[in-house]
Amino acid sequence: MCETQPGQPAARERPAPAVYVHIPFCPSRCDYCAFATWTDRHELRSAYTDACLRHIAEVQRQPADTVYLGGGTPSQLATADLLRLLEAIDTAPAAEITVEANPEDVSPQWALAAAEAGATRISLGVQSLDAHVLRGLGRRHDPAAARSAVAAIAAAGITSYSVDLIYGGAGETDGSWRATIKGILGLEPAPTHVSAYALTVEAGTPLSRDPARHPDEDVQAARYEIADRMLADAGLEWYEISNWARLGQESRHNLNYWLQGDYLAIGAAAHGHLDGRRWWNLRTPERYIGAVERGDDPVAASEHLDPAQRAFEALELSLRTSHGVPAAALPLGEDPAFDRLVTPAPDKSDRVVLTLAGRLLANQVALRLRIPPPAVPTHGSGHSDGSGHSGHRAHLLSQIT
Ligand code: SF4
Repeated sequence: MCETQPGQPAARERPAPAVYVHIPFCPSRCDYCAFATWTDRHELRSAYTDACLRHIAEVQRQPADTVYLGGGTPSQLATADLLRLLEAIDTAPAAEITVEANPEDVSPQWALAAAEAGATRISLGVQSLDAHVLRGLGRRHDPAAARSAVAAIAAAGITSYSVDLIYGGAGETDGSWRATIKGILGLEPAPTHVSAYALTVEAGTPLSRDPARHPDEDVQAARYEIADRMLADAGLEWYEISNWARLGQESRHNLNYWLQGDYLAIGAAAHGHLDGRRWWNLRTPERYIGAVERGDDPVAASEHLDPAQRAFEALELSLRTSHGVPAAALPLGEDPAFDRLVTPAPDKSDRVVLTLAGRLLANQVALRLRIPPPAVPTHGSGHSDGSGHSGHRAHLLSQIT
C-alpha cells in the first residue's frame, strides 16, 4: 500500500507523515455540501472503524506529529470506536490530535471520551450563530449548541479548539455576521483558532438548484473584511486566507498540507501525499471496507507531480499564507494596481505577502505566479531567522518555498 516509494529518502531521514482519517457519516446533509459523506450508513460505523484500524496497521511506519479526524462528522462515531481509532494511531510526544465535531454531538460525556482518546484539539462546525442563517444553509443545529459544546470541551480539559464559520449564506446581513463573530469571540473560553470560509455553490447540491440562496461575491468580500478586522482586533491573526489563530495555536496539521508535507490517508475518499505522489482512496465506505477486508489496496487512483509542478504548487500554497512568496515570483513593478495586492513581508526583504485586498483577489494573483530564478547568495545571509525575525509563526512557515 503506502510504502516508501523508490527514490525516496529512507523513512528515518524524513519527517513522519501526518495521518488524516476520513469519517464519512453525517446525521443529515447540509444544503451546500458536496463532501464524501453519507446519511444512511451509520450501521457501517463499527466495520468501518475496523477497516481503518487494519489500514493504519498496514501503512503507518512512524509516530505521527499530527492526526486529523475529519469528515463527514467524526463525532457521529460511537465513542468506543473513536477511542480505538485514536489508540491505534502511533503518535509522537506532544502530537496535535484534532477531531472535527458538530456542536450538537458534543455532550460532556462525548468531550470526556474525546479527551480520554487523546484529542488535543476540537474543530467545531458552528458555521453561524444566527438560526435563520443556519436554516438557509440547511444546517439542523441550534446556535445554543455551540455554547454548551464549548463548555463541555473546556470541562473535559481540552484547551484548544477551533470554530468553523461560513459567510454569505441566505438571510445573513453585515449585522448578523458581526453578531456571529462577536458571539464566537465571547464564548467561554474563547476559541484559539477560527476558520471562516466563503459559501460556495457546488454542483449537484440543493443549494445549486436554488439561485435565490446563491451568495453575492461583493457581499462576501465585505463579510471577509469584517471577519478579518474583528478577529485581528481580538488577537487572532490571519496565517492563511481562511484561517486566523492566536500565536502558537495555528493548525500544525493544516500547515503541513500548505508546506507540501507528507500525510497518510485512512478511510474512504481520504487523500494522501508522500514525496510528490498523491493518491485518494475508494470513495464509498462499502468499497473501502471491502478492499481492506480482502487485503486489497483501497487506493482509487494516484498521480505524481514532477519537480517543476511541485515548485509551482509550493508557490501557490505559500501565497495564501502569511509567509508569502519571493517577490521575484510575481511580475511586480509593471502595474501599480497589481502591486497594491502585495506588500513586503515584515520579516524578509525578498518576500511579499498578500494585502487584505490581495487576499480577496488571491486567485487572480496566483495566475501571475512564476518560478523565480535561483537567488544569488549574499554574504552573511542564508537563513531567514538571520534577518532578525524569530517569531513562532514565521518559524512554522519558514520552510515554505
Ligand atoms: S456536517 Fe459537514 S460533511 Fe456533514 S453534510 Fe454538513 S457540511 Fe457536509
